[in-house]
Amino acid sequence: MAAEEQGIRLVAQHALTGKLLVIGDVPVEQLRLYSECGLLRCPSCGGELRLKAGAVRQHHFAHVSLELCAARYAEPESEGHRLGKLALYRHFRRDAPAAQLEWHVQLTDQRVDVFVPPNFALEFQQANNTAEEWRARQRLYEQAGLCAIWFLGQVRYSETRSEPMRPISLYDPSPVPRHIFEAAAGAFRIREMERAMLEAFPLLYYLDPYSQMLTILVPRSWQAQTLRAYRYRLPLSLCQLRPNGLWTPLHNQLGEKLLRNRRK
Ligand SMILES: [Zn+2]
Repeated sequence: MAAEEQGIRLVAQHALTGKLLVIGDVPVEQLRLYSECGLLRCPSCGGELRLKAGAVRQHHFAHVSLELCAARYAEPESEGHRLGKLALYRHFRRDAPAAQLEWHVQLTDQRVDVFVPPNFALEFQQANNTAEEWRARQRLYEQAGLCAIWFLGQVRYSETRSEPMRPISLYDPSPVPRHIFEAAAGAFRIREMERAMLEAFPLLYYLDPYSQMLTILVPRSWQAQTLRAYRYRLPLSLCQLRPNGLWTPLHNQLGEKLLRNRRK
């Protein structure tokens, strides 16, 4: 990944008013003016940001000097990752105007992709972490009193070629819907991060940052790199945050047993 991917932000802070300025929320002409006047600051490190608003890439802010921020957040983000977290932010703030993009958790010094009050931390995860790295992040969110909801990037979704997708059998004993939301049964390749997620929470969510469609896997069993699961697909726009977490229209149809948290 290019070095310039580092230190890219979607939120800037106005140097004089302290107001947070989110890409897409504020007219680009106004952001350009602030940028030219040197009035944009990074909410994390306080360094100066400049607006990058060309025709090709998603508009963003870039650090004039990266040193401070790079020391803190070493991991560069891809364009797909930025689009994914923007999609989450734009959808979920409709019901929660105080939602924040790229929110900094003071207590644990983490950066949350999207914070939605009262306590949701939405993460769009495309990069591959080890199980241990993922568990460490999850633990930090718990320490901060946050309920983390993980959306895997659609690039991580992988059907196993040797076992083609098929309709869910009428004789399948599980209480799952069979004819809605592109229902299918199949086998999927997963990595150790997905396995760690499944040990903590019973469903996997994949978000396509371009179409904003959510793919949901409801596990039947998993072994090594193979997950056998029911697959559903529906628009992110139909999903909501409710007190016990992410709610999708599928949740009305799924058996209680399948939705219960299966901590081991
Ligand atoms: Zn910074």
